[in-house]
Amino acid sequence: MDQKGIFAHLIKQLMKLPSVGQKTAQRHAFALLKMSHKEAREIGQAIFDIKEKLIFCSRCRNISENELCTICSNPQRDRSKVVVVEEPSTVFAIEKSGEYRGLYHVLLGLISPLDGITPDDLYLKELMDRLANQEIKEVIVATSPNLDGEATALYLSKKIRPLGIKVSRIAMGIPVGIDLEFADEVSLIKSIEGRREL
Ligand SMILES: [Zn+2]
Repeated sequence: MDQKGIFAHLIKQLMKLPSVGQKTAQRHAFALLKMSHKEAREIGQAIFDIKEKLIFCSRCRNISENELCTICSNPQRDRSKVVVVEEPSTVFAIEKSGEYRGLYHVLLGLISPLDGITPDDLYLKELMDRLANQEIKEVIVATSPNLDGEATALYLSKKIRPLGIKVSRIAMGIPVGIDLEFADEVSLIKSIEGRREL
């Protein structure tokens, strides 16, 4: 098939997505071709919208359509607990379980001495501001159980404990080395329930 035309271009674009190789991209491209104009336009518009209309919540850095996300602005949430995660995808996974009723803070990365990522590169100052100004009694660190995740958890515990706020780390029901993004929601909620104090 012509590798330069419009169809080949779509395949190339789809291959930028995770886990999408040439074959899968080709299958998706043919599926899109078979769709009605309306359906295909809806997909295109949805992709466009996440870049144009989504922002990060000004308080917790979760993805949001408004200045405050639906979790931060929900008065029913337990404001004494904050789960700290590295990416919004972990918020999604924990929320899917429907078991956790507290708040979140998304760091948008992890401390990584090897990659030169320091605490200043993350949304840590914002977390410290929240701890100083809000009624938070416990911080649950739910970073991935790998080197950077552990380094970040240790750093957080050292910074937060002197404030008299409890810091706990999720239980390691999650296989060591795995990215939390790929953990299922049952394992995630179990690891929050079985957390231990740092
Ligand atoms: Zn928020």
